[in-house]
Amino acid sequence: MTVTPLTLRKKIAFHLFRKYKENERKLHTLNYIFWEATLKCNLNCLHCGSDCKSESPVKDMPAKDFLKVIDQIRRITDPGSTMIVFTGGEALLRKDIEDVGLNLLFDISFYFCFFLISASANDSAKILKGITNILNECYFL
Ligand code: SF4
Repeated sequence: MTVTPLTLRKKIAFHLFRKYKENERKLHTLNYIFWEATLKCNLNCLHCGSDCKSESPVKDMPAKDFLKVIDQIRRITDPGSTMIVFTGGEALLRKDIEDVGLNLLFDISFYFCFFLISASANDSAKILKGITNILNECYFL
């Protein structure tokens, strides 16, 4: 097997690309935080990659622990440009999810959003009312 030497042009291109990648690695801006708030889900999709069920053998992470972690992350990132996504399982099955959202919004000032998949949730109307309450408090620029 013969090895063809790189042209100067290719060497420069590889060098610049390597520098670009090193810089990207250093910056590595945190834009999204996905919180798998629960492994419980009211649906039972065949394709579910999370293996979620109506009951979970794993306890949900306490809200205060999650908020504590977010408070630590706040020191190394810009809350105004970091999106927190509540997911699961079905995040809206948590009884405290509205409180967590309000806490993030007012005490920590992160953006956040929900992945809504509660079409068949028994108390989806109540949950959606909670989200509406949060959105009513939001400012849209
Ligand atoms: S977590 Fe998503 S994919 Fe899994 S069962 Fe629930 S709705 Fe379906």
